Amino acid sequence: MKLVTYLHDGKEAVGVLSEDGAAVCPLPFPDMNALIEVPRERLLSAVDAAEKAGTALALSEVTLLAPIPRPRQDVICLGINYKAHAAEAEKYNAEAFKKERPIPIYFSKRVSEAVAPEGFIESHPGLVERLDYEAELAVIIGKTAKNVKAADAADYIFGYTVLNDVSARLLQTIHKQWYFGKGLDGFTPMGPCITTADKIAFPPALGISSRVNGEPRQDSTTDLLITSIADIIEELSSGMTLLPGTIIATGTPAGVGMGFDPPKFLKPGDVVECSIEGIGTLRNTVR
Ligand code: MG
Repeated sequence: MKLVTYLHDGKEAVGVLSEDGAAVCPLPFPDMNALIEVPRERLLSAVDAAEKAGTALALSEVTLLAPIPRPRQDVICLGINYKAHAAEAEKYNAEAFKKERPIPIYFSKRVSEAVAPEGFIESHPGLVERLDYEAELAVIIGKTAKNVKAADAADYIFGYTVLNDVSARLLQTIHKQWYFGKGLDGFTPMGPCITTADKIAFPPALGISSRVNGEPRQDSTTDLLITSIADIIEELSSGMTLLPGTIIATGTPAGVGMGFDPPKFLKPGDVVECSIEGIGTLRNTVR
């Protein structure tokens, strides 16, 4: 099922999308973080009851928010995690890079409030230069994960969403850490929904793409991750308890603005669309 957070009559609520995506059935949970913690049987019976209640709202009557508008913790991100980059490295120096399994780069993306679908990416004039986009598959953890083996990792995943890891390239590179350049307000668009894990075969092999003002930029598939989702969960949970609602952004494929010559950075007015098969399209405008 596809789960959303939305505003209706000024109130925030969670719901499940209809099969055709044209309507949303309200669910009786205070927010998405609370919903994620509900035992699966109870969630399924709540969904069943909501669908029978006849209280569905047309999607046009509501305003979608990010599925988890206020994450309980910062987003855990993977840097350089697509094989296209590994292939480039191997092409550059086969002896140095061939068959080597790189050690994952983990970093934290601060997010006080995630940007809604159709919401605004903030350009921070005067502070930010070289604003860039990164379409990513984000994994939502469903139950407390500690010392989880890769073979069991799928059992800990609640679902998946689309995340744009918006990046200020100059800030990202002049500071030794990426925290500031990737954690600014308005830098974490997320959505439009969470597709629950039962609807996506594991490991996910989904088309992932992005467009800027309609121009294709990124086009790949999520089975090309260098460090797999199972290995990420095993490694992180070996020393870090992952709580329900934890968001892990799994990295971006080739085709970001800094990858072009000359680079194609974002400017106010640009419309960025990030799409993942089976989840949907996250569309945001730079302001
Ligand atoms: Mg990224």
